[in-house]
Amino acid sequence: MKFKNIRRVVLAAVLLPFVFMIAEGVVLIRSSLTQYRALENDHLFADVLARGGSIAANEILAELVAARTYINNPNEMTKAAMMERRSILDSERARFNASLPPVETLDLGLQSQLANLRLAYSRIVATRSAVDRGYYGKGGNPVHIYGQAGLKQLGLVESLSSRIHDPVLLRKSSELMSILLTYYGERLIGNLGQRYFDRADFSAMSHEQLVQGETMLGNGMDRLRFHSSSPVVREILAYRSQPDEVWADTFTKAMVSGALRPDKAIRDKWIGIQNKRLDFLQQKIASVTDDIHVTGQKLSMRSHIHMTVVLALSAGLVLLVALIVALAVRGIRLVARVTEERELLINELRNAAQTDLLTGLYNRRGFEAAALALLMQAEYGSRWISVVLFDLDHFKKINDIYGHDAGDIVLKRVAGIARESFRSFDLLVRHGGEEFMALLPDSTPEDAATVAERVRLAIEAADIALPSGERLRMTASFGCAGRANAVSNRNFDDLVKRADLALYAAKASGRNCVVAGPIVPSAASQEERRKTAGGTHDFRK
Ligand code: GH3
Ligand code: MG
Ligand code: MG
Repeated sequence: MKFKNIRRVVLAAVLLPFVFMIAEGVVLIRSSLTQYRALENDHLFADVLARGGSIAANEILAELVAARTYINNPNEMTKAAMMERRSILDSERARFNASLPPVETLDLGLQSQLANLRLAYSRIVATRSAVDRGYYGKGGNPVHIYGQAGLKQLGLVESLSSRIHDPVLLRKSSELMSILLTYYGERLIGNLGQRYFDRADFSAMSHEQLVQGETMLGNGMDRLRFHSSSPVVREILAYRSQPDEVWADTFTKAMVSGALRPDKAIRDKWIGIQNKRLDFLQQKIASVTDDIHVTGQKLSMRSHIHMTVVLALSAGLVLLVALIVALAVRGIRLVARVTEERELLINELRNAAQTDLLTGLYNRRGFEAAALALLMQAEYGSRWISVVLFDLDHFKKINDIYGHDAGDIVLKRVAGIARESFRSFDLLVRHGGEEFMALLPDSTPEDAATVAERVRLAIEAADIALPSGERLRMTASFGCAGRANAVSNRNFDDLVKRADLALYAAKASGRNCVVAGPIVPSAASQEERRKTAGGTHDFRK
């Protein structure tokens, strides 16, 4: 497998589990966020609900009582008491409105309920001014107006409580709703009961309201029985099962059926029981609304903590992933570096096996590999190819006089000069000892001789400095041979042999010169020439 693929596989193996972990983390954060929003929503609704319940149970009815007291007995004191109740209701309403979530975030059902509630309050405001102007005569009772507002407020509480998600808060708000219903039922019954006894304007409509009160009470009690596991509800149920309470209920039933005309003592007893019952229920409403407030706050705190933990864990996960990725990248880089170094080393070894260590030129093995490619190119195009063989003159003397190291320096220097003076595409090899060879592609022996002459002059002109400070001058003798290469004639030993002969001739003719062998276009024509020329050649210039 290629290193790139290995790297991909390793990266995938390291990262895939983390990709899954991140995906899981994202899902967890999303669901936590949803949960968090739901709990925050619950907290908000719990506040609205508790405040709304308290207004329905206390403030509205307290203002009604104060207004009725003022209507029946208008003086400074009753007026001041009524005004105080009004300002309390207004400030509670303002707090309630402030605790409402923005209207556009509420669903349409809640929005229309809120609009109805606002309408009911605007009627209270109109009633207030009617009371102030004395439109209500003695015995006047704006109970319908306040009762409507109370019922609307109650309806809103009921809707809010069904929109709560948290089971504990949901149970508590449902409990509150049950107590409020009971309370309202009792309130209606108490109010209309007094009218019934007084026989003051107890119309058919009043009777209908009495029945409505009874139904509300029955409804509320049924719901309370459903929540009988709650301590507050148990207290209420226990309270309602006391003998006096049972007596009052039986009495109420008789009153609703219209079959009762009690005397004053019984009537007062009933009113007393009713009022005590209302006080008791009011206390319970206050304690449940407080409890809802606290529960809502606890929920909100819990959801904040939960969210903080989830975010901290997610941050930790991201850090861990970053660390692992960094480590994986480092590991892969390390492997890449080792692989690169290994490849470099292999190349170096391959080069070393093909290179002469002293001169840096090809050794014979390297030359053979490189020459094969050149020869093949040449043979397919039937192009000229030439060989130049050159040998340093009297080199042995250098060794003898200056030492072997000096000889090595000279060999290196001559190799350098050759490298610079031959053409870039000529192939140079240290053929052995102080003898070098060059293979010149696309060159006739004349071309080769021209190049060889240039090299010869360069060697002759070189001023070679030894570490001892002494300076040397060298010469070399050159033999050239060439042929027009042809397919099926890759062996170029004969060419080398002829170049060798030419070199021999150069040495024989006094050294420091170039001798070019005869032009031999191909093996066949060479044979032809041998026949016609008698086979001997003079290689000297
Ligand atoms: P000629 O002009 O006829 O070529 O004379 P020559 O002295 O150059 O030829 P000869 O063949 O007598 O001597 C070649 C010498 O080159 C012998 C050998 O010690 C020396 N030689 C061969 N290889 C190396 C080498 O790698 N380093 C050194 N310093 N000397 C070498
Ligand atoms: Mg020599
Ligand atoms: Mg030699």
